[in-house]
Amino acid sequence: MKYISTRGEAETLDFEGVTLTGLARDGGLYVPEMVPSFSHDEIRAMAGNTYAEIAYRVIKPFVGTTIDNASLKRMLEETYSTDTFRHPAVAPLVQLNERDWVLELFHGPTLAFKDFALQLLGRFFDHFTARKERKLTILGATSGDTGSAAIEACRGRDNVTIYMLHPKGRVSDVQRRQMTTVIEPNVVNIAIDGTFDDCQALVKECFNDLSFRDEVGLTAVNSINWARVMAQVVYYFTTGAALGAPDRTLSFSVPTGNFGDIYAGYIARQMGLPIEKLVIATNSNDILARTLQTGTYGRGDVHATLSPSMDIQVSSNFERMMFDLASRDGAAVKRSMDAFGRDGSITLTSEALETARQIFNALQVDDEATKHVIKTYVDTCGYLADPHTAIGLKAMETLPENNAPHITLATAHPVKFGSAVEAACGVKPKLPEHMSDLFDRKEAYLTLANDKAALQSLVRDGVSP
Ligand SMILES: *Cc1c(COP(=O)(O)O)cnc(C)c1O
Repeated sequence: MKYISTRGEAETLDFEGVTLTGLARDGGLYVPEMVPSFSHDEIRAMAGNTYAEIAYRVIKPFVGTTIDNASLKRMLEETYSTDTFRHPAVAPLVQLNERDWVLELFHGPTLAFKDFALQLLGRFFDHFTARKERKLTILGATSGDTGSAAIEACRGRDNVTIYMLHPKGRVSDVQRRQMTTVIEPNVVNIAIDGTFDDCQALVKECFNDLSFRDEVGLTAVNSINWARVMAQVVYYFTTGAALGAPDRTLSFSVPTGNFGDIYAGYIARQMGLPIEKLVIATNSNDILARTLQTGTYGRGDVHATLSPSMDIQVSSNFERMMFDLASRDGAAVKRSMDAFGRDGSITLTSEALETARQIFNALQVDDEATKHVIKTYVDTCGYLADPHTAIGLKAMETLPENNAPHITLATAHPVKFGSAVEAACGVKPKLPEHMSDLFDRKEAYLTLANDKAALQSLVRDGVSP
């Protein structure tokens, strides 16, 4: 399997190359040259398989020959086991009523869906670096959950040092502590004076500085890394296998900010899973919903909301979608992204908008509505949703009334946003046992201005313990 850049200029890479590179050198994102697809019989045959077995079927074609079959199987079995995910189903489905379901993606080590991809990515890093005796510097930006999931995935690994930026004072206490209480020589937490978009821009600038990038062996763990998208495709298939695909169609509502999780659903659909609609569920940082409504992808101001992991106004992965909407014309995507960089907005062609609307619905849900949904679901079905999941539940209402199962992705455990949940419905979610001492653990992090040079010298020189 070969991977090409959405901007058409960077060199073609194999799976190992894209896993270790992240962002393409022309500023684009890597996508598979051809998305593999399954026949109906192949999808039917997934019924009754374990999560790890379905993961193997879905992931193998993307990995190609870069990992031998036995090692890939072993890594998948280790990742998607009850040692890592504290639920025997790994990604359990909870039925809310006759038609509606919740897919719980928060039983991993950091209680959010990002563990699904990052626990696997950490093992890929080990596998590829051990073979080459290479050192990697992971640099990432987090609005909350990516950071802790990446840190858990990399902690203690021999050839990897991780620098994780978070916007100072803009992540929840649980989220911050899940990162800053990991005291390991290869983990550096940095609070940036700025927003998540500032953090992400700093990371992008470091990646676009090619000499710096080579000097320190920079690697991304943000959802721009193809391997993350790939790992997330799996749970759409496990859900399909459980709920009767391909003989029934499904629709998913996906709380999203960076267009990562929902883009994985789009790939599952490309691979043959009969998905009728994917719903883009956003908070009031609604660039994606506005794009679908108006056809214009235009930057807005970032607002702090009850669902901080989606407080994003530039959705990196949307470029991958644009690439397909532009009939995979890299030069056209490059022109569009240059225009976006210059003007802060671009307008989709009417064909592109029409295609997007066939696949996606969208809804923006503000904080008031989010609180109302949390309360309603506790009262009507006894289900306690975190604010991100609640946005998904609300957006599920945009789906057509039919018998296709409607599934909302539950992206975080309610305890991660415990005070918001308690304020909304009066129920205080509890920390799971393995985390009950989180607020007693020691924290360590550095604070830095929003300044590329300062960040680069920190990464170059390392941090003395
Ligand atoms: C990261 C995150 C999201 C958004 O994920 P995208 O990759 O931006 O789609 C939603 N909910 C939670 C809890 C998250 O951590």
